[in-house]
Amino acid sequence: MVAEYSFPTTILVGQGAGDAWINKINPNPQQHFLIVTDKTILSLGLCDWLTELLDGHQCQYSVFADIHANPIQEDVKKGVQVYSDSAATAIIAFGGGAAIDVAKAIKLELAYPGGIEQFQRDEQPWEQALQASIDCYAFPTTAGTGSEVGRSAVIILESQKDKTVLFHPQIIPDIAVLEPKLTQGLPQAITAATGIDALTHCLEAYLAPDIHPICDGIALQGMELVLQFLPRAYCDGDDLEAREKIQLAASMGAIAFQKGLGMVHSMAHPLSAYFNIHHGLANALVISQCLHFIEQQNLHADEHKKLHTLNDLFKGQECHQAVLSKTMANFVASLGISPGLNPHGVNQDDLPLLAEAAYRDPCTETNIIAVDQAQFLAVYKAVL
Ligand SMILES: [Zn+2]
Repeated sequence: MVAEYSFPTTILVGQGAGDAWINKINPNPQQHFLIVTDKTILSLGLCDWLTELLDGHQCQYSVFADIHANPIQEDVKKGVQVYSDSAATAIIAFGGGAAIDVAKAIKLELAYPGGIEQFQRDEQPWEQALQASIDCYAFPTTAGTGSEVGRSAVIILESQKDKTVLFHPQIIPDIAVLEPKLTQGLPQAITAATGIDALTHCLEAYLAPDIHPICDGIALQGMELVLQFLPRAYCDGDDLEAREKIQLAASMGAIAFQKGLGMVHSMAHPLSAYFNIHHGLANALVISQCLHFIEQQNLHADEHKKLHTLNDLFKGQECHQAVLSKTMANFVASLGISPGLNPHGVNQDDLPLLAEAAYRDPCTETNIIAVDQAQFLAVYKAVL
């Protein structure tokens, strides 16, 4: 059997990554960048860092920030309009997962024959090459989703009314620029939640049953970085070394999870969709009970070994316990996250709907073991 392993893109990481990026691409005066960002980032003045960098190199740019937190197709259309009106030649995504996903979808709309509408209609559209070459660069300002190294964009399409994953290998940003300064101002709770998301990506990718030793190695190393540096970034937001390592771990998590995710994400997705709970926090709320559930099942020796391997990564830390579920509960608590869904507006009556959605979630297919709807319900009850 032939396995195909695809690995992503150029990553520039560290203090000064912005300067390294602009020196690397060496833009000419005809270059005009469309900056895709969001209104919060604009209002915080974070984008000034980028525009100053571009001004310093006499680059032309337009800023587009009219996007939703959960991006919709209209955002993409508006962005395409700004791109065309300003005669832009390249795209810079500057923000969290939403801005990066919109930037990638703008590229798809511009470069796929027939745009996103046709993309949706075509069979295996990812096999059709994009028509135009549009450079796209990503500057993440959070450290969690890893969209900067991903080949898909999540957009709510008019025809679907639900989040749709648009996958095409050529929409991966050409360069991901991980500048730790950009995450320096993240509030403590967001640092914790997004960091746990990165951790969960690594953990679930490692546990996913598919055989992918390259992803497994990246997942383990990514987890080590989170365990070592997330507590530091949480305690001191100005610790730029810790910020840098968490950014890198977030990218590594996203690289690893091309192997698959699992039931933590299956349970987190409906919590965000129905109760607007932050994605990373939703993972944090369910992860230890998911692990406890897995530990209780009749596991094969190699599945046991995987859980032990992950638990051993915590050795030497105060949170370390004999089993991974207990260790994880301590680790999550050490980041100021209290257990329970009740405080977030979830009641007993809501659980069957959540369990049904979790069971239908695509991540369920790649969980370490099979899970049925009744089992999802039982785990939600334990988390409540
Ligand atoms: Zn996630």
